[in-house]
This record gives sequence, C-alpha cells and structure tokens, in this order.
Amino acid sequence: MKTLADIENLKGKRILFRADFDVPVGTDTRIAEPFRIIRQKEAVGFLADAGAVVVIVAHIAAMDSFRGLVPQISALIGRPLAFLETPDAIPAFLREGSGVALLDNIRRNPEEQHNDETFATRLATGFDLYVNNAFAVCHRDHASISAITRMLPSYAGPLLEHEVATLSEAIAAPARGKVIVMGGAKAATKTPVIKRFIAEAEAILVGGVIANDILKAKGDDIGASIADDNAAALLAGADLANKALVVPQDFVVDQGRYLDIGPASAERFVSYIKRATLVIWNGPMGMFEDDRFMAGTRVIAQAIADSGAKSIIGGGDTIAAVRRLGLLDRYSFVSTGGGAMLAFLAGSELPGLTALGYDNHA
Ligand code: ADP
Ligand code: MG
Repeated sequence: MKTLADIENLKGKRILFRADFDVPVGTDTRIAEPFRIIRQKEAVGFLADAGAVVVIVAHIAAMDSFRGLVPQISALIGRPLAFLETPDAIPAFLREGSGVALLDNIRRNPEEQHNDETFATRLATGFDLYVNNAFAVCHRDHASISAITRMLPSYAGPLLEHEVATLSEAIAAPARGKVIVMGGAKAATKTPVIKRFIAEAEAILVGGVIANDILKAKGDDIGASIADDNAAALLAGADLANKALVVPQDFVVDQGRYLDIGPASAERFVSYIKRATLVIWNGPMGMFEDDRFMAGTRVIAQAIADSGAKSIIGGGDTIAAVRRLGLLDRYSFVSTGGGAMLAFLAGSELPGLTALGYDNHA
C-alpha cells in the first residue's frame, strides 16, 4: 500500500479523506463514545498543517445526518470544519481552497453501498488524491472505500496502516502464549476467527452468546439462552473438542438464560490470561449493559489490563464496556474496527485493503 510518505508535496493538494466517524449517539444528541473520531485527529491535523485541503468523508448509522454533531466533531478533531450538505457542494469548497470540511453522512447516498462507479466519479471531482484512514469500514465494498480508488491516486492513512501492521504482527506471533478472548454475539463474524485460531493459539476463551452457540453445537442444553440460529452451520468443520477451545463451566442465570459467565469460569479464564504473552479480545463476556451481568466482563477486562501481555482489543461494545470500567487506556492497542478487525484476523479479504493494493496472503 502507498502511504502518506509516498506523496511528494502535500501543500495545496486537495484530498478526499475517508475517515470512520461511525459513533454511537445518545438520545440527547451527544456522542456517546468518541473513540473513533479521536483516532482520526492526528492524520487530519497532519494533512491540514502540511497545507492540504481536506474533505472528510464518513458515515454514521446512529443518525441520518452529521449536521447536529458538527460542533462536537470539530472539537474532537481540534479544528473548525466546514459542513458540506451533499457531494455537489465539494467542487466549490475545493475551488475556494483551504481548511477542512466534513461531507454529510455518505450513506445518505444509496449509491455508496452499491459501490457505484458513476457516484465514485462524481465524488472524486476536483480532488488530487484519496486517503483511506477508515480501517473499520474496509470489510465493506462501498464507493468511498473501493470504487473511489479507481478514480484517484490512492493512499493508506496512518491509522489504517497502524491497524494493519498491529493485527498482522498479532497473527504472525507464535501460537504459544497467544490467547484469544471471544464474546458477544454475531456468530457469522466470530466463528471464522475461532476456526482459524483453534490450531494457531494457546487458548481461545469464549463467553457471551458465542459460548452458548458452541455449547449448543456440542449438544449441551443451554435452556432459554440466546443463541444464533445459524451457529451450527457456521461452526461445521471446527474441532470443538480441541482443548485449546475453552468454554465456560458456570454461568449467571436469569429466567433460564445464561447472561454472564460464572465466577469459576472467570477464574479459569484469568489463569490463561496471566500466562499469556499476547491477548486478543473481542466481545463482552455477558449482557454487560445490565450491571447484574457485568462481572464476567469486568474480571476479564481487568485481568487483561493487569497482565504483562501485549493486548489488542476491538469491537464497539467491548470498547463501551472498558470505557465504563475506566480501563480504555490500559491496553497495548485498541482497534477502531469491530467487524473489520475480525475479518482481518480470520484471514478474509477486505475489499478496502485490496483496493489499496494490499495482499492479505502475501
Ligand atoms: P462487539 O461490539 O464488542 O464486537 P458484540 O456486538 O458482538 O460485541 O456483542 C455485544 C452484545 O452481546 C452486547 O449487547 C451484550 O449484551 C450481548 N451479550 C453478550 N453476552 C450475552 C449473553 N450471554 N446473552 C445475551 N446477550 C449477550
Ligand atoms: Mg457490537
């Protein structure tokens, strides 16, 4: 992948900058978790200080429009942002030519999610180059991630580069000492990681709904617990009897449902984490939004923070949980990617990275 270091002179360059601003927003229109926006500050500042004209393109699922969030985003990014309602407003901004603008929610344009070439061409109008700093969106084949790279000279942004380098290193690290902690829901995104690392890690510790899925696939009775209907098919071919795959032995139960791992399981998981040299964690151990089912996630989050191991965590709910616990700055690396991090770890091809010339299997 070409990076910012490959750009001769940034001064006056008009840059389409794909960022990830997909943050949760509270009912009060306050950004509930600003982590992803904060992680874009450095690159935006670097480009603007070098004299580039920057238009930030991003999407948000929690709201229809960025409009009401612009003052908050501007404060987080640390500079004033012009707000552009539609892609048609871009060429005029680029002609005036200075500073940083934010284009409204790119997913307001249905062409975005269709990876539409005509739309990408329209979006590219007036720009000199494209920078993708949105690692968390790279598993999507969308116009501002994929088709756009056919319209403009394209570069990996520094955060994207850093995410790829850190996760690649983690994959390449020896199986011995490598502990994967997997929780949460969405079996389709988690089972490929479990399947891959069963033979490539010291242990995979599973909690959350994905543990229910595995127990069910093994033939255990999980009562009224939530499970993924597709899980058995997704787990087909996985060696579920492998002793590296560590499932909970006790649970916090409410109305017949397993809603958190129990204390004996947490203690056992911690014993693995204490001996690890690298821990990769995605997904809460239970329904942590309810304090009654937070203990498993708290114990595991604390153990990873306190262990001497290198620690990589990711996932929107995982980050929300560790933020609540006051532990967000206690890990070696916090990925902005949830689905993208899992896809990368699983060894899947990410269209956004391929579009930048990255070969996952090189
Ligand atoms: P992340 O966003 O970190 O990748 P997920 O989105 O996969 O995590 O999963 C988080 C969700 O899983 C949370 O809403 C949590 O309440 C839910 N969850 C975890 N364990 C359980 C459980 N045992 N039963 C029901 N829901 C659970
Ligand atoms: Mg989530």
